[in-house]
Amino acid sequence: MINIRKTNEPTDLLNEKIRIRRELGREVTANDYDNFRKDNLNELLLREQGGLCCYCMCRINSDNMQVEHFLPKGNPEYAARALDYDNLLATCNGGKKKGEKNNKSLYHCDTKKADALLDVLPNPADESRDYAEIITYGADGKVKGVTTI
Ligand SMILES: [Zn+2]
Repeated sequence: MINIRKTNEPTDLLNEKIRIRRELGREVTANDYDNFRKDNLNELLLREQGGLCCYCMCRINSDNMQVEHFLPKGNPEYAARALDYDNLLATCNGGKKKGEKNNKSLYHCDTKKADALLDVLPNPADESRDYAEIITYGADGKVKGVTTI
């Protein structure tokens, strides 16, 4: 995993949160994310992550990516963070194939995590943590945890 340096929050995302709070007078919900137009958001997430999945670091693009909510939007405790830019990351499709029978035991990344809270690793966008000190990748393809969290 790599540390992700978040850029400025996109204006359309910020404006949507302001609109929901001012015009509708309520907190953001998971449905607000589902209804938000994501073309600009997806492009920005891909760019700031260099086209890599935030978890497995495989190559991703606008056709095979999905947006991960590090603090899961499906969890009522975190639903109000559904449009918070620092909570949004680009991931691969996690082994899910469209139009095919999927073996859920092979799911990984966001697809496996779903609405669970990932409490064993910090948010890759948390600049106070250095992933190079937490996880290393060997030339043999093995991934190792270097330190305890
Ligand atoms: Zn992945």
